[in-house]
Amino acid sequence: MGKVLIIGAGGVGTVVVHKVAQNHAVFTEIMLASRTKSKCDVIAADVKQRYGVNVATAQVDADNVNELIALFNDYKPELVINVALPYQDLTIMDACLATGVNYLDTANYEPKDEAHFEYSWQWAYQQRFKDAGLTAILGCGFDPGVTSVFTAYAAKHHFDEIHYLDIVDCNAGDHGKAFATNFNPEINIREVTQKGKYWENGQWVETEPHEIHKPLNYPEIGPKESYVIYHEELESLVKNFPTLKRARFWMTFGQEYLTHLRVIQNIGMARIDEVEYNGVKIVPIQFLKAVLPNPGDLGENYTGWTSIGCRISGIKDGKPKTYYIYNNCSHEAAFTETGTQGVSYTTGVPATIGALMFMTGQWRQPGVFNVEEFNPDPFLEQLGKQGLPWVELTDIDLEL
Ligand code: NDP
Repeated sequence: MGKVLIIGAGGVGTVVVHKVAQNHAVFTEIMLASRTKSKCDVIAADVKQRYGVNVATAQVDADNVNELIALFNDYKPELVINVALPYQDLTIMDACLATGVNYLDTANYEPKDEAHFEYSWQWAYQQRFKDAGLTAILGCGFDPGVTSVFTAYAAKHHFDEIHYLDIVDCNAGDHGKAFATNFNPEINIREVTQKGKYWENGQWVETEPHEIHKPLNYPEIGPKESYVIYHEELESLVKNFPTLKRARFWMTFGQEYLTHLRVIQNIGMARIDEVEYNGVKIVPIQFLKAVLPNPGDLGENYTGWTSIGCRISGIKDGKPKTYYIYNNCSHEAAFTETGTQGVSYTTGVPATIGALMFMTGQWRQPGVFNVEEFNPDPFLEQLGKQGLPWVELTDIDLEL
């Protein structure tokens, strides 16, 4: 049905290429392009061996709009799946507009020199995508992504009004390392060291980093200390679901992880500004990334589960109602299928389903959209089939 170009050959990119190849009837031609072509070639060879599907590869610097335009004009994809870094979102969107290509990503734009997450930069492209008749699908990983679709599904089928939303993200996996991040360390550390923020009674409430925490029980896992942090899907969800009185995001962290994080910050290794070292300018957090374990290599010995979902309360037929929708994903099963760990898997599968929704015409509308603005039903119909089965519980104690 369509030709797809995937940009970024990291952990998430690897999963996307596998899943797109598994859906070869829809994605009839596939190309993987990234900064380092040799990484693309390794993934393409693995996919060819597993499924007999050909994946073309190319080198591209996605910070450079002209290079992207040349690649898009040469390959002529219908859709670009951006699973490079958030820094490249705008250059790739610019190239899409210049060449008439549709766009999908999993993380909102972030400037390199500011740890600052907001959709305003990408929402500013709304009119240009609309005028060009092109679709841009924003934030189609797990969170943002599936959590946003879960919320839309709950609002559509289970509530007249949703009032309280708590997105709960637990990684109960064990990779055997003292400290490692589950996706790009630079992006991950910038995200988890920022101040906490949540929505309450029509305004944002800011907290110190990790100030609010409590143990929450996760299905098949048990209690895990969970911390309120700011997460980007809150911004679009409170806009798109104005009945929300409160919206928070909780993530589990182990004590060992938090201790390492504190040391990293205290000694200045989380800094995102340039420092001079032996006459060379380096950014400490980028240097740190070079010495930390590669998230893409954690899969082999990773055991345990991730559990991510939405705990929602509100009103149905005039009565209060509680609802919990979640997915548990096994790191081992993700590794067996794609050679990557669960966090890359839970991001790459939804990105592929979003692309599938676009290619099959179900999520195709000129403009720039967050995923909760589309029909959640066909997406959730695919989620289990593509490897991430979901569970719903109603009228339970949400612990919140
Ligand atoms: P990785 O660091 O593993 O991979 C990023 C890839 O992008 C690498 O192959 C890298 O190239 C490539 N890249 C970086 N800069 C450029 C550039 N200028 N031009 C071309 N290619 C470039 O990251 P992940 O796979 O872990 O994450 C990918 C994306 O997924 C990130 O944006 C992350 O924020 C997002 N994410 C979203 C989640 C969600 O649930 N919504 C959860 C987890 C991640 P090279 O190999 O040469 O370094």
